[in-house]
Amino acid sequence: MKVPFNALGRAVAKQRDALMRATTDVLDSGWFVRGGQHAAFVSELQAYLGVPYVIGCGNGTDALELALRAAQLDSRRTVLTAANAGGYASTAARAAGLRVRYVDIDPETHTLDPSAVDAAIDDDTFALVVTHLYGRVADMDGVRSAIGGRDVLLVEDCAQAFGASTPAGKAGSLGDLATFSFYPTKTLGALGDGGAVATRDPALALRVAQLGEYGWVTKYEAALPGGRNSRLDELQASYLRVRLPLVDDANATRRAIIARYAEAASPRIHVLAAADASHAAHLAVVVTDSAEDLGSHLTQAGIGHAVHYPVPDHRQVAFANGGQHDLPVTDSFVGRIISLPLFTELTDSEITKVCDALATY
Ligand SMILES: *Cc1c(COP(=O)(O)O)cnc(C)c1O
Repeated sequence: MKVPFNALGRAVAKQRDALMRATTDVLDSGWFVRGGQHAAFVSELQAYLGVPYVIGCGNGTDALELALRAAQLDSRRTVLTAANAGGYASTAARAAGLRVRYVDIDPETHTLDPSAVDAAIDDDTFALVVTHLYGRVADMDGVRSAIGGRDVLLVEDCAQAFGASTPAGKAGSLGDLATFSFYPTKTLGALGDGGAVATRDPALALRVAQLGEYGWVTKYEAALPGGRNSRLDELQASYLRVRLPLVDDANATRRAIIARYAEAASPRIHVLAAADASHAAHLAVVVTDSAEDLGSHLTQAGIGHAVHYPVPDHRQVAFANGGQHDLPVTDSFVGRIISLPLFTELTDSEITKVCDALATY
């Protein structure tokens, strides 16, 4: 028996009737983009997040691009972000013609280190993207106080953290703008691509909505430069409505799986904790001496695994921008992290098998 890294078909099988009903409803409605499903999903999301404005869009990278374009109101062009979060913010910023400067991470949480923020902000900086990496809400209070009184907008990338909840509010309600991806593997996943931007600021919300539909201020009247098309379609919105009520339980189930891995792991493996609801448990990431060695041990044991992410942004050819980047903590994890199977439908014997392999390394 092999343990797959992921198996999206298992969730679909469980939810098949509801998903088929949602499909039929959309087909029968005869309306496929920005109709009743999108409107209903948006208001359900606003209620869930406790945020007054949500705008659906095509995917999580578009969400970041729209958020950054909406946030950039003057000639400042630099965005700060961490370099270990998969490159999505870098891709979005570069698509919007912006510069990226990387900030180092905290060695325990692997999220952006607030103590590195102060030195990174300069006169050209207008936004900071904080990724709630692997599902863990970053230190938003720390980042806020590091920004201090400066005019820098705080963008939360919640692609991996849908449903994470802190005493101060849900992931997505803690910054000036928040972005979501509904890629099928995410903690709230569609059956295709999807994304959203959330904000409390009506002016930012309006700009995001306008930029996502050609820069139109009214139909066919393009007044806002930088507009493009990025929308969440009715089928995806209807599937997301089926899945939204399931998210909290699913996140708790995956947190419990991470706890079992942590309990079983040999001293050579450090399982990043997902202790409470402030972690959506999107990925079960471990730090070890050699990801290559642990990877072959897992492969021999028939256990799927992956790396999130093998190459930090400042070392990606496509993102090279000639800047000097001194990111010792980020660099120290290259070749040392591995992601384990983590999805709600893992069976007890599959989890046990992963635990056994972690114990015998
Ligand atoms: C998946 C992901 C994105 C991008 O989402 P897409 O829908 O694939 O464009 C952005 N940020 C993070 C942290 C992600 O994990």
